[in-house]
Amino acid sequence: EGRTERIKKNIAAYPDFPKPGIVFRDIFSILMDPSLSADLMALLEERIATICPDADIIVGLDSRGFLFGMPLALKLKKPFAPIRKKGKLPGVLKRVTYSLEYGSDVFEAQSDSIKPGQKVVIVDDLLATGGTMEAACKLVSDMGGEVQLCLVCIELSGLKGRDKVPNPCHSIVQY
Ligand code: IMP
Repeated sequence: EGRTERIKKNIAAYPDFPKPGIVFRDIFSILMDPSLSADLMALLEERIATICPDADIIVGLDSRGFLFGMPLALKLKKPFAPIRKKGKLPGVLKRVTYSLEYGSDVFEAQSDSIKPGQKVVIVDDLLATGGTMEAACKLVSDMGGEVQLCLVCIELSGLKGRDKVPNPCHSIVQY
């Protein structure tokens, strides 16, 4: 059995969380098993090594993107920077406002974290409607970065989130 199939089979699904009608895919079920975690990290690393080995920086999205972005950066010997929800980061910030199902939210990055011309990989746990990744791409490009790859562990393909994202998307497992 392949690594991808084993990971897909072991991602826990919670019907009606956080709201009725939503099936929540829980990546933490993979992190409970060191052998599945290792396979997942290796698959993510292989994607970056294949698609954009010369990326300058790995950017993780608040908050589960940090779990994957930081170890990937360490392994690939690249810098890591966070994009966070408003009010979490100190210092001089760049921000983008994006719309949610109800209302809007703000993403922030430290102004000196992504430099003009840098090639960027954005990492998150899951791509659903694509609104989160779209906003992250906008923030990175506003800062002068060039998004080479949007990398997620899980993609909910039926929601067609990747159509909304302006840069190339790759996922390890799809539902
Ligand atoms: P989107 O903006 O609709 O693509 O939603 C993606 C964001 O919401 C990611 O940062 C995910 O962490 C979170 N998210 C949405 N659905 C799920 C889910 O089923 N499981 C875990 N996280 C989710």
